[in-house]
Amino acid sequence: MWAAARLVVTQVWPLLALAAVAVLASAVVTVTTGAIATAQAAWWLVRVAVLGLVGSFALHETMHLVLLRRVETVRTVVVARDRWRVSITPVGTMTPRQVATTALAGPGSCVLLGLVLLPVDALVAAIYLAHVLQLLPVFGDGRALVHAALSRGLVDDDGAPVSPSPSPPGGPGR
Ligand SMILES: [Zn+2]
Repeated sequence: MWAAARLVVTQVWPLLALAAVAVLASAVVTVTTGAIATAQAAWWLVRVAVLGLVGSFALHETMHLVLLRRVETVRTVVVARDRWRVSITPVGTMTPRQVATTALAGPGSCVLLGLVLLPVDALVAAIYLAHVLQLLPVFGDGRALVHAALSRGLVDDDGAPVSPSPSPPGGPGR
């Protein structure tokens, strides 16, 4: 279940390293000079990069994974990463409804948490709320919803991994 979150962290470790360096540097500056401007900048970076981006993508992908694992007809879930993103590919069969539910779980969980965070930290909340954009058909989750709306599920006829968000041959996946 933590596989997706772990891969997200692996994917963005330079960002996390940068945030850690910024926090350390600002701590040194704050302690030695008493100036808090650097500390404020470092805190901004931590909020946006770590709490916002890494946190939201880890939640997004983990929720896809958690729901896919509950579908009994999905034999395995392949979690992989390439240069740009973490991809989650179920292998097995799914009904259109299951495709739609698992596609919605990622962006939906981020939007819900974004609404909760809004009064606490609007900047971090905005990053979570922005996940709603992934429901547009140009993104994998949006394509999966369109796919499900056309009453298509996940069909596992040849044993090859089938994505709930199939992309054109040669095109990008989710
Ligand atoms: Zn997604």
